[in-house]
Amino acid sequence: MTINAALTELSALLGDRLSRSKPDLEAHGASETHFAAAPPDAVAYPESTGEVADILRICHAHGCPVIAYGAGTALEGHTSAIAGGISLDLARMNRVLDIRQGDMQAVVQPGLTREELNRELRTTGLFFSVDPGANASIGGMAATRASGTTAVRYGTMRDNIRALEVVMADGRVIRTGSGARKSSSGYDLTGLFLGSEGTLGVITELTVQLHGQPEAISAAVCAFERMEDAVDAVVAVIQIGIPVARIEFVDAESVRAVNAYSGTDLPAKPHIFVEFHGSESAVAEDAERFREVVDEFGAEGIRTATRTEDRTALWTARHHAYWACLGLKPGATAVVTDVCVPISRLAEAIEETRADIAASTIPGPMLGHVGDGNFHAALLIEPGNAAELAEAKRLASRMAERALRMGGTITGEHGIGFGKLAYMEAEHGAAWDVMGEIKRALDPANILNPGKVVRGQ
Ligand SMILES: Cc1cc2nc3c(=O)[nH]c(=O)nc-3n(C[C@H](O)[C@H](O)[C@H](O)COP(=O)(O)OP(=O)(O)OC[C@H]3O[C@@H](n4cnc5c(N)ncnc54)[C@H](O)[C@@H]3O)c2cc1C
Repeated sequence: MTINAALTELSALLGDRLSRSKPDLEAHGASETHFAAAPPDAVAYPESTGEVADILRICHAHGCPVIAYGAGTALEGHTSAIAGGISLDLARMNRVLDIRQGDMQAVVQPGLTREELNRELRTTGLFFSVDPGANASIGGMAATRASGTTAVRYGTMRDNIRALEVVMADGRVIRTGSGARKSSSGYDLTGLFLGSEGTLGVITELTVQLHGQPEAISAAVCAFERMEDAVDAVVAVIQIGIPVARIEFVDAESVRAVNAYSGTDLPAKPHIFVEFHGSESAVAEDAERFREVVDEFGAEGIRTATRTEDRTALWTARHHAYWACLGLKPGATAVVTDVCVPISRLAEAIEETRADIAASTIPGPMLGHVGDGNFHAALLIEPGNAAELAEAKRLASRMAERALRMGGTITGEHGIGFGKLAYMEAEHGAAWDVMGEIKRALDPANILNPGKVVRGQ
């Protein structure tokens, strides 16, 4: 068999860094969400770009699928080995190679997690801004074009990656981009690999943009009686141009879940979580303008948090919201949705979604990075319950259709994997065929994460 032939050569190359142990295979075939387990045939642990290149050359010669693996936190079945092959776990390539203080950049290996990078940066006065709810790897975040709570101010991975080193399907090593802030030099290959989900190449090095730690930070939470008032308040804050660093919406059900999971004591009502970065005076002024705007929408009990430990507790609770929501239905798994619409359609999109979920038989707490027009519902289902899964998928597909009808996208940040393939044609039309042509040109043997992002080859 082609996979077996590849495994024999890979085993000679990697020794015990090619694992076929059951726990390893199970861990790499598992999903954070509702997808059935799809374990690989083996897990490879490379330690250098050269080894990644050797692995890809072997797999290319034998037609063996290769699924790049960062921290395994992606939500749409991205790392499932649906065609078998090897999981290429980059966890051992996790070093910070260079911190370029003057350029506010760092050069890192792909397996480094965002929290590890920020720990390394602690004494530099700089930080890496992109913060998905999980402690994802920088390589995985680039490969999914991830974002998080701070994208409204500092941008997504698209805005914070300057250059990449990538190993192509046939083992060639290329470099894209540069340390310069801008360039008009040819096709934007860096942009092409961002969001390619391991289907076009394996990222082995990244130059990331950092930001200066703000002089002052202030966070606040406030409640609203009605969900639509909370969302309208966010839209007003964005349209007026108050420079928020984070602005998150959390519905009443999610607040109940967060209270139970993280020990917070927020009233069980829709909330906005917000944060301001800047000088002491700018932050105070922004917070005051925010207060004036949300007051008009009936905000209640505004609480501010300026002490680091209070802010950390607040944002940790927000980051743990997914696991908190799972706790609303004991033993549940979730179909997690992730649509993004133009800000002018946000209130309408959220209200229609809320009505849909309210009329359904399954719970679906909602929350999101609403400053970007991005929101999620965690549709909670019993594992293995086909009727609940079908209902969750019906709601999810109505959300996707709604986002497209409103001029938005089927995913603001989580990506496609194979969970969202069904909506790609509707969003992209003939452009989806072009994506397939790019895939075939760069990976003619279809070994890189087959079955994801593009139409079946
Ligand atoms: C609780 C929770 C909250 C989340 N919140 C957010 C959020 O706020 N924002 C957000 O954007 N996402 C969020 N996510 C989703 C997830 O964290 C992101 O998609 C993240 O970017 C995945 O990174 P990872 O290291 O886990 O990648 P993995 O899951 O390991 O891989 C993701 C994809 O990238 C590919 N890949 C991984 N490494 C490489 C590489 N070096 N080269 C090429 N391809 C590679 C894989 O093949 C796969 O297709 C959340 C997930 C959870 C569980």
